[in-house]
Amino acid sequence: HEFLQAFLDILGKHVIQCDKIAEEMRTGSSRGGIKPSIMAKELGDTDDGDIVKQLFEGTLRSVLICGKCGHKRSQPESFLNISLPLAKEVVRYAKLRLETCLEHFTYPENLVDPVHCSSCAEKTPTQKQHTFSRLPPILCLHLKRFDAAANKKITDRVAYPAHGLDMGPHLPHWCEVVQEIYTEKEKAANQPTTTGVSSPQILYDLFATVNHTGTLYQGHYFSNVNV
Ligand SMILES: [Zn+2]
Repeated sequence: HEFLQAFLDILGKHVIQCDKIAEEMRTGSSRGGIKPSIMAKELGDTDDGDIVKQLFEGTLRSVLICGKCGHKRSQPESFLNISLPLAKEVVRYAKLRLETCLEHFTYPENLVDPVHCSSCAEKTPTQKQHTFSRLPPILCLHLKRFDAAANKKITDRVAYPAHGLDMGPHLPHWCEVVQEIYTEKEKAANQPTTTGVSSPQILYDLFATVNHTGTLYQGHYFSNVNV
């Protein structure tokens, strides 16, 4: 997983580099060669033309929700892939499904320590939640098969759909926590009602898998690609 992350990062930067060299050769402005220091600076400063980001990058909405007043603080977090924990899922379910793992990924979690709320002006019990505010053209999901507590690999099978994985229910509008801090009338006026309305379908078909066989200490990777 870390290798994939590093590989995509470097690949994206080199694609930009190649594009820049090709462009400079076309315009004839690089007869004397391109100074490496300038190139490195340009690579670090811009994401324009980074095809890896265009294809794989999405945005999570990370929200802290005050348990006392309902005040929310949100910030965007970009991602190239999503790591889905399996350790707790294995305990809960006999048969694992990718959809269940995604549901749990977007569930709000109660933070152990209270967090300062600017509205309450004190530390309050707080929930944290991640939802998908922008989905990429290619969604890369990683199953975390490393059980750190038991120091072993989780080998349970996880079922996933070959066609039509629906990410619609994981958008902020459809799964973000709404605190019951309004009167019913205020709530109706302030919150869009979703009763009886389904989330939009945002469907992904399975294109490829990367698989690992072996143990934590050795093994092989192989890939299945739908061509
Ligand atoms: Zn508060």
